[in-house]
Amino acid sequence: MFDKILIANRGEIACRVIRTARNLGIRTVAVYSDADAGAMHVALADEAYQIGPAPARESYLRPELILDVARRSGAQAVHPGYGFLSENAEFAEACDRAGIVFIGPPTAAIRAMGSKSAAKRIMEEAAVPLVPGYHGEDQNPDLLRETADRIGYPVLIKATAGGGGKGMRVVWETAGFDDALAGARREAGNSFGDDRVLLEKYLTKPRHVEIQVFADSQGNAVHLFERDCSIQRRHQKVLEEAPAPGMTQGLRDNMGAAAVAAARAIGYVGAGTVEFLLDTDGSFYFMEMNTRLQVEHPVTEMITGQDLVEWQLRVASGEPLPCAQEQLAIGGHAIEARIYAEDPSRDFLPSIGDLTHLRPPAESAHVRIDTGVRQGDSVSIHYDPMIAKLIVWDATRAGALRRLRSALAEYQVVGVNTNIEFLAAVAAHPAFAAGDFDTGFIERHRAVLFPETTPASDQVLALACLDVLLRRSVEAEKMAAASFDRWAPWHLTTGWQMNGDNHHVFTFRDNDSAVCVTAHYRSSGYLLDLPGGPLLVQGRLNEEGDLLADLGGARFTATVVRHGDDLTIVTRGSSHRLVLHDPLAHAGEQEVEGGRLTAPMPGKIVALLVEAGAVVERGTPLVIMEAMKMEHTITAPRDGIVAEIHFSVGAVVNEGAELLAFTAEGDKPS
Ligand code: ADP
Repeated sequence: MFDKILIANRGEIACRVIRTARNLGIRTVAVYSDADAGAMHVALADEAYQIGPAPARESYLRPELILDVARRSGAQAVHPGYGFLSENAEFAEACDRAGIVFIGPPTAAIRAMGSKSAAKRIMEEAAVPLVPGYHGEDQNPDLLRETADRIGYPVLIKATAGGGGKGMRVVWETAGFDDALAGARREAGNSFGDDRVLLEKYLTKPRHVEIQVFADSQGNAVHLFERDCSIQRRHQKVLEEAPAPGMTQGLRDNMGAAAVAAARAIGYVGAGTVEFLLDTDGSFYFMEMNTRLQVEHPVTEMITGQDLVEWQLRVASGEPLPCAQEQLAIGGHAIEARIYAEDPSRDFLPSIGDLTHLRPPAESAHVRIDTGVRQGDSVSIHYDPMIAKLIVWDATRAGALRRLRSALAEYQVVGVNTNIEFLAAVAAHPAFAAGDFDTGFIERHRAVLFPETTPASDQVLALACLDVLLRRSVEAEKMAAASFDRWAPWHLTTGWQMNGDNHHVFTFRDNDSAVCVTAHYRSSGYLLDLPGGPLLVQGRLNEEGDLLADLGGARFTATVVRHGDDLTIVTRGSSHRLVLHDPLAHAGEQEVEGGRLTAPMPGKIVALLVEAGAVVERGTPLVIMEAMKMEHTITAPRDGIVAEIHFSVGAVVNEGAELLAFTAEGDKPS
């Protein structure tokens, strides 16, 4: 076994590999780009080396930089993770030349599977079933169209060098073939620098079922059962599970045998995945083989109790497979959900930003979280916007699904948009629960899976108001405790005591509209005038800052994450963003009329920070007022001169009262 390995990757997979290496007593070396200097994988590794600027092609995709670190650090092997250099035959070769073990299959196997059409030719010889189609060298457009006509429509055009669903076009009839071919070629050329294509019969309701295989250098090969990855958007996996719902033992044995035959046909060593399309009649067809660890490998680990990264390390160091086929068995059911920083309602556009609040559900024997980010980290434009993989396990599929729903409801992410609510909608769909799905599931159920943005409910508004009020009263108590005049009526936390019905009006921006809620102070809490009617609310903040609320007798726990005026109200299973329009916060900018600075709310002058005649710059603090049990600083709206001050410290002023006369620079004194 190795003493030290380098992980040529970042994010969750780098962290995942480091964890197993550490369990085995292997030291780890991380590499990182400038953007990742503070990243989790860097912190977890025993050593870390900077390799270049943020763009992956200038850092993580540079074999020579990575091998240089391997040499300098004395790493004996390189784990490529998935993506980046994991299926790059030149990199694997360069490792060999440098005398460093590439933790993956032999170079020849990577090359053999790198082209979808070459892979098909090999599989054909190994008697692995193929989708009816064409994978020849001749790329003459007329020949391709005639072949498509013969295969029968619908037909799928695929880039030979394809991946990630790029360069794929479905053609429904001969008339559309030429245009689709041109489009697929263009996309393939742009994405892979290779515009060759192949043709396949397009199955209209297939499932994506893949088999995890493993082989060692002693000639042993096993499969670790199947994963169903049919829940896809734009041909990319969203939810994966093992075992596949509705799988029979006979079919599993046949698919497993075909996958092992595929691996043997190319002299495979290490972890690989043979992807099949499973048709409604139970026939299955080879699609491609991925010669690396898959993103979704944890579901296999959860049902087999095996650590696949450990298997990879053992096999790469020359050990035999830890288990024979008969020793492997399926226990229970696992589902993985890929949590992404993206906006499902905007065609899954990545959502870039800082993870200002990140609270995943607690990990247990039933809930596993593979992540590479922590609260405060950023999701950048440079890399895959995956936040985490949430993996749940239970004895039955129904149990696992229940745990998935519950864990998704608990997952709190603020700062970027996520697909969590979308995933929850998939997990809640009766057809998904019934195992009644194929690769068209998301498209077919679009209407229910992509809910419209709804206005904030009364509950959300009430939680927002209550949180702001409680935080203000906590602040006021702190101030009162620090104040020499702690019995002053201004410090009373029962409410503003100036007018008879002490109240405060909140104005929130909710998406594109504004909503007002009036909060009346009551001895037992607050009476809120909400769009749906009045509601008596009370509550408290616990040590974690969570809000324990009583809304008209119904108890809720919520987390309100506040950044400036931005409030995100996170309740179980949903989060809603509101922007608080606080007139006090913008007093300095808004209340200047004709050279006067007015009080934006009723309150008390607690400090005068300037004297009449002072020359001040824009933003200079002038007066501190206390209102709503909070201090508010009124600042100079522009550069200018304080002409006159109308109140002294301790004065109680009404809303709109002119506090001071102000002459902006260049203006005539008023
Ligand atoms: P890529 O390598 O670009 O990811 P794949 O060949 O792995 O492309 O296919 C991705 C997905 O496209 C599959 O999981 C499946 O949903 C769909 N697909 C591929 N081939 C077919 C086909 N012949 N008929 C129907 N769907 C297909």
